[in-house]
Amino acid sequence: MTDSAAQITDQRPRIVIVGAGFGGLACAKELGGAPARVTVVDRRNYHLFVPLLYQVATAALSPADIARPIRRILSKDANIDVVMGEVTGFDSAARQVKLRDGGVLPYDKLIVATGSEYSYFGHPEWAPFAPGPLTLEDARRIRARLLTAFERAETCGDPAERSALMTVVVVGGGPTGVEMAGAVAELTRHALARDFRHIDPRVAHIYLIEAGPRLLPTFPDSLAQYARTALEKLGVMVTTGEAVETIDAAGVVVAGRRIAAGTVVWGAGVKASPAGRWLGLETDRAGRIAVNPDLSVAGLPGVFVLGDSASLKEGDAVLPALAQVAAQQGTHLGRALAAQLRTGQPLPPFKFHNRGNTAIVGRNAAVFDFGWAQLKGRIAWMLWALIHVYLLVGFDNRIRVAIQWFWLYITYQRGARLIMSDSGPDAAGPRAAETR
Ligand SMILES: Cc1cc2nc3c(=O)[nH]c(=O)nc-3n(C[C@H](O)[C@H](O)[C@H](O)COP(=O)(O)OP(=O)(O)OC[C@H]3O[C@@H](n4cnc5c(N)ncnc54)[C@H](O)[C@@H]3O)c2cc1C
Repeated sequence: MTDSAAQITDQRPRIVIVGAGFGGLACAKELGGAPARVTVVDRRNYHLFVPLLYQVATAALSPADIARPIRRILSKDANIDVVMGEVTGFDSAARQVKLRDGGVLPYDKLIVATGSEYSYFGHPEWAPFAPGPLTLEDARRIRARLLTAFERAETCGDPAERSALMTVVVVGGGPTGVEMAGAVAELTRHALARDFRHIDPRVAHIYLIEAGPRLLPTFPDSLAQYARTALEKLGVMVTTGEAVETIDAAGVVVAGRRIAAGTVVWGAGVKASPAGRWLGLETDRAGRIAVNPDLSVAGLPGVFVLGDSASLKEGDAVLPALAQVAAQQGTHLGRALAAQLRTGQPLPPFKFHNRGNTAIVGRNAAVFDFGWAQLKGRIAWMLWALIHVYLLVGFDNRIRVAIQWFWLYITYQRGARLIMSDSGPDAAGPRAAETR
């Protein structure tokens, strides 16, 4: 029988999963071996461990350490096809996923897990000057800008311009901003410290700017205060209660004050992918689609939304945009659909189990909030490292990252300090033109 003839006679339902991030991949794994033809479509050919992107941006890890080919991960499941393609919309009436190359993927059940993108609070013009660590390309661009600014500073004869080039501004005091600021401080204070002859990277100015009243707004106050003190010990200048008003090639303006900076990093806000628009659905202010307790979408039979793109209320609050929420939802839905296909049982509601919310400030300094208990300092940091190594997909990635972290811990050295020419046309970063 030819492939197309086999497809016509194959009566198994077609399940299309859009996005092989934390939610989509967990769902696909549960559907391996289920009586269904499953297609996983993603615009990239690898699954990315987003929470460690800031370590690529600050030269602690290499891109390959935190990414793994989707085909490889799902290679054992004969009923799962992987398609690399960018989804541009859905035709709910015809039950088809539309791809940028003009192709379509028919479905009986559709699972949307397309995650988030950065939101510049109505200022898309800031994006080129302040990339955030959301993709590997972004992380490499930040790394290139950061390292190029110090290279320029080394040969710069003008003290004001040199100081500006050695200034890094991180916008946003949530976990991403805190982790970025801490990692940049460790990079400049230790790894870069001995490598330059004409500048002293240890005196680099690192600002963390948060518009709200305190850092880490989703963590208890005591942990936020600990993070602030730990960052200040590393030499980070933390500003709260002041919003960034402008970001341009010369740096930022905060509460009317200009900070000339060679590198600006965005960690302030994300919004959901445009899946709501594609499905013609109302979304909340963060762009998320409201889902039923079983993750289905009201009015669209056979359509489910997971992870950062979904808005699911538990009690009074919407579940946060976290990898653990997305992964648990993916596992739950994949298992429930596989069971339904085998036995016809209805889909049970999803229940989130909080495994702890965490942010790392630097070596031996992290915070962990389990809801019922809090941890901070070295123990939290060790727990963070153990959990993140465990969660990395693939045995080889785990070993590599564990070795690199151990090496970093004993030597303070960051091996991935490469400025790649393909990090984008603006890899060299904005020129700092004005002084503080
Ligand atoms: C810098 C940073 C640090 C974070 N740190 C933590 C942390 O420490 N702990 C934690 O729990 N959470 C953390 N998060 C949040 C966490 O990464 C997300 O909640 C999680 O990735 C959401 O999973 P998801 O499956 O919804 O989306 P993602 O994991 O983002 O996956 C979405 C997938 O969809 C694909 N996709 C998107 N659009 C299309 C399209 N049009 N066509 C085809 N494919 C598409 C993408 O390529 C991607 O593979 C962090 C997020 C960021 C940005």
